[in-house]
Amino acid sequence: MAKSLALIGNPNCGKTTLFNALTGSNQYVGNWAGVTVEKKTGKLTGTDYEIVDLPGIYSLSPYSLEEKVTQDFLINDHPDAIINIIDGTNIERNLYLTVQLIELNMPMVIAVNMMDDVEAQGGHIDCDYLSELIGIPFIPISAKKNKNIDKVVAEIHHVINHQHIPCEINYNRETQNAINRIYSVIVRNCEVSEKPYPYYASKLLEGDFNVLNYIQLSDEQKSRIDAIAADYEKQSPYPDREALVADARYTYIEELVRKTVTKKDNGDGLSVSDKIDRIVTNRFLAFPVFAVIMLCMFLLTFGPVGTFLSDSIEKLFNDVLSPGVGRLLESASAPEWTIRLLTDGIIGGVGGVLVFLPQIAILFFCLSILEDSGYMARAAFLTDKFLRKIGLSGKSFIPMLMGFGCTTPAVMAARTQENISERRMTIMLTPFMSCGAKLPIYALFAGAFFGAYQGFVVFSMYILGLLTAIIMGAVFKKTLFKKNNAEFIMELPPYRMPLPGSVLKNTWEKTKGFIVKAGTVIFSMSVVIWLLQNFDLSLHMTVDSSESIFAAIGSFIAPIFKPLGFGQWQPAVSLLSGLVAKEAVVSTMSVLYSASGTAALTSAVSGVFTPLSAYAFMAFSLLYVPCISAFATIKREMGSWKWALGVAAIQTGTAYIVALLIYQIGSLFV
Ligand code: GDP
Ligand code: MG
Repeated sequence: MAKSLALIGNPNCGKTTLFNALTGSNQYVGNWAGVTVEKKTGKLTGTDYEIVDLPGIYSLSPYSLEEKVTQDFLINDHPDAIINIIDGTNIERNLYLTVQLIELNMPMVIAVNMMDDVEAQGGHIDCDYLSELIGIPFIPISAKKNKNIDKVVAEIHHVINHQHIPCEINYNRETQNAINRIYSVIVRNCEVSEKPYPYYASKLLEGDFNVLNYIQLSDEQKSRIDAIAADYEKQSPYPDREALVADARYTYIEELVRKTVTKKDNGDGLSVSDKIDRIVTNRFLAFPVFAVIMLCMFLLTFGPVGTFLSDSIEKLFNDVLSPGVGRLLESASAPEWTIRLLTDGIIGGVGGVLVFLPQIAILFFCLSILEDSGYMARAAFLTDKFLRKIGLSGKSFIPMLMGFGCTTPAVMAARTQENISERRMTIMLTPFMSCGAKLPIYALFAGAFFGAYQGFVVFSMYILGLLTAIIMGAVFKKTLFKKNNAEFIMELPPYRMPLPGSVLKNTWEKTKGFIVKAGTVIFSMSVVIWLLQNFDLSLHMTVDSSESIFAAIGSFIAPIFKPLGFGQWQPAVSLLSGLVAKEAVVSTMSVLYSASGTAALTSAVSGVFTPLSAYAFMAFSLLYVPCISAFATIKREMGSWKWALGVAAIQTGTAYIVALLIYQIGSLFV
């Protein structure tokens, strides 16, 4: 049978980086605690050993889901060896998990990571001495710089082949005594097997009754253990067995560290990270700094640079590609309809989406830098207090922010949330953030109806989305997710220089999805829309789109939108095609009103809408079901159709009510 290896360590200590180095895979790395939520598996390169990348944990106590998942995996699945990765720059805290793993009596290799940072800070860790003291291999590595990975692999083979297990740990006399006594209580009646009794003994002493899931104890045994623990607590004026055991572990670790680790004393005791944090998380400066960073990001994305690149792509499609292909086909005397399908349908449709590519790439690039450097963790920390009021926490911040770019990756980003109700709630609220694809809709209508105030009107859409999310959040908190009391314990990771390679890789990974969408969904969608509006119900080609299949469908659903102020068939089918991609709303309208160019379209909609119904239409577009790719992602991340359809229904219902209120209340005044 293939061997299995468990990769375990604290959050953010480089597990995934090491996992990628060992397996040659490309999992997501982020300077952000909690990046790995699900366990992932891969094969150790060149072998059939399976490596499982487990979620990051600080201890094997039974408090969080990750800790339980890891404990269960170690005890029930019994991997052949443990690879414990520890962050060398934070060795005391990391060893706290290590000593618990040692008690499991399993073959184990310890990779001391971030040695590049340790050395840069002028410190030293004597890994050879540590190996000698504990009796298992400690290997100094740098996962990021691929240093000593081969040694880790060699040691893995060695410990597995020799079934090499660690020496016992020696805690202080009282603790060791109590553990030994509990040990003899629990092994007495049980067959001696490969069960990790030292581990059970120390966990029972601690008062972690979760281990009772793994061993059967009689009531008599349990009361004897309680007596031993009560006896143990007598040594201190504070009878708290858990704290006493923790204290014993730390004392043991301090002793180890004293013998093997030297740290350079850097004057005021503040690291560079601490110094940056003094400014960036300062009580008065934190929010201004945050605002400036966000503003810069949005300016870069939606400001001159992003707009210039977008315009260039639009020109490429409209002025070069479309006429070029048209002329080419004409000269090959292709039939008129093929030319129209290719130029208006496909190039128009796909091009209409690809114009947003530069902006999306810039946004993802900025987010990658912020995330890799460690700033995102601070931003999440800052917004935590506010988000907590609506039942979320700082961890929802990133997905919500990404929602302004594109809902699909934003919904995926909610994976960093371990708490399931919080994660579901984030997924449900993120689509209310106005995504980039809705911008063309606002641009068209605001330009057509609100003249000098159009900037303000577009901005109001973003605010409307935010407000709706806040209100719906409060509603969900009271109804769907009542028991949700999300914990937010997030350690601030040290700032690190983002690796250009890793930033570019992250940006590309996310942008790629967008290009694929343009090439597949939008491509086929453009063909379908074109066919629907150029053929009538008897499947004959028609030049008058009011006779088309589209018109028939549109007239059927249009009455639903009458109370919202736009009961004609054209807006109705535009909204329908918006289900596939929001960008399609505008492109569908431009074909339906046979308007080529922005000016023609503007005058066309001016004849059909009023300022009030236009505003209601914008609000509906903002809030109704996200596009098909976002919907598919929601289905995948929520894990069931029930949730996905529920979300879609809630979104559309909300959109309808908000648009209805806008139109009906507005009608009283205008
Ligand atoms: P995980 O949460 O434990 O899976 O950690 P990741 O693999 O996502 O890495 C966390 C952060 O540590 C990322 O910013 C990595 O680039 C960084 N990192 C990983 N290994 C090293 C290393 O050897 N040296 C340094 N300086 N940084 C590292
Ligand atoms: Mg990870």
